[in-house]
Amino acid sequence: MHLKSLSVRGFKSFASVTMFEFEPGLNAIVGPNGSGKSNVVDALAWVLGAQGASALRGGSMKDVIFAGGSGRPALGRARVELVIDNTDGSLALPYTEISLARTMFSAGGSDYEINGNPARLSDVQELLSDAGLGRELHSLVGQGQLDKILHGSAADRRELIEEAAGLVKYRKRQSKTATRLEAMKGNLDRLEDVASELS
Ligand code: ATP
Repeated sequence: MHLKSLSVRGFKSFASVTMFEFEPGLNAIVGPNGSGKSNVVDALAWVLGAQGASALRGGSMKDVIFAGGSGRPALGRARVELVIDNTDGSLALPYTEISLARTMFSAGGSDYEINGNPARLSDVQELLSDAGLGRELHSLVGQGQLDKILHGSAADRRELIEEAAGLVKYRKRQSKTATRLEAMKGNLDRLEDVASELS
């Protein structure tokens, strides 16, 4: 699995459609200070479902929409589309290429799409957790974050490694199954009561 392209429009400093194409292996984005390099990483985190303005270095979620500049007026919509190469089947969908898109309007709220079809945030998160690209996006390491990782508690570090290894999905399923088993046990107890009353 590797990222193939990222298309950004109306997101942070990218007022016009801007397309980034990636190759397998190492890719580098270079440019002067303030030219928008970190905004590209923010766009990546955002389309993968990042929640909370601080994850995107903003004051509020709406700060992701182009606020105007260089003689261009503010826009009312931000859209980011990411195309992932899935030839190795890392993501559990039967397509060799998967497109994820997220759109936000200035009125608020986000729309997600998977391969052009409307999807919920939870669908995107479930799909990505197969590849260790879970909710907390530990696969994206921002400036200053390394320090936080190195100085975090052992429990925090374990959580981080589990998230990156894609274990969180199984933990969630385990807890859902345990709840269902508990409910089933309650039903069985009640059934036994009824059976003993009848006998
Ligand atoms: P450095 O090398 O200093 O870390 P950088 O290349 O990573 O810089 P970014 O932090 O990605 O730069 O981009 C900062 C620029 O993005 C600033 O000029 C800022 O005004 C602009 N910017 C951020 N959010 C918006 C927005 N919503 N609308 C318009 N411009 C924005």
